[in-house]
Amino acid sequence: MTNETAADPHLSGYHDVTTRIAKAAADVGRDPAAVTLVAVSKTHGEEAILPVIEAGQRVFGENKVQEAKGKWPALRERFPDIELRLIGPLQSNKAGDAVALFDVIESVDREKIARELAKEMKKQERAPRLYVQVNTGEEEQKAGIPPKEAVAFVARCREEHGLAIEGLMCIPPADENPGPHFALLRKLAEDAGLAKLSMGMSGDFETAVEMGATSVRVGSAIFGARDYG
Ligand SMILES: *Cc1c(COP(=O)(O)O)cnc(C)c1O
Repeated sequence: MTNETAADPHLSGYHDVTTRIAKAAADVGRDPAAVTLVAVSKTHGEEAILPVIEAGQRVFGENKVQEAKGKWPALRERFPDIELRLIGPLQSNKAGDAVALFDVIESVDREKIARELAKEMKKQERAPRLYVQVNTGEEEQKAGIPPKEAVAFVARCREEHGLAIEGLMCIPPADENPGPHFALLRKLAEDAGLAKLSMGMSGDFETAVEMGATSVRVGSAIFGARDYG
């Protein structure tokens, strides 16, 4: 068992990440169980994902609806307790597929998406949990609602679309210290009365845990580098 684990590069990354999350949480007096690891499996096939499922991981993240639709239904049939999260930008014409497939959608970031999701959730009688994505770095090319509009947007989701928002999500600019972005997201969540914070990736998840992340989205540190071929 131990030898098998050590021989599988995917699993050594996985175990390293779970250990580091637990340590980062303990360092600031947080319960490690209060931090959900979202294993980001985008670009990876079943052969890479299966060992991680078999090691006990149950929460996975994908950034493209189409890709997830291709590989997850079969896996979920075998492992019905898997939780699947959409962490990438959502086009309104994919809202129906997203509602059908995902348990959590972390990229609600504009009025049109809120409206489409509300419509699809009603139609399909399914209610994925929802996060609002905030563009904390106000980067032009990046998805997410601007920070100064975030609290009002959460309120509008609730009041105008009947959507219960669970938390906020951010992806800090790649070339900046993530700390101030995590702090901003936490402040906005407090202002909006939300308890959940999705922040932290392979390069900065320990910082995110120390700053209050309730979920971290980790891909390459678990699965290795992505090959976009
Ligand atoms: C790909 C991706 C991640 C994981 O990135 P890594 O650096 O590989 O850990 C996290 N969040 C989002 C939104 C992503 O698209």
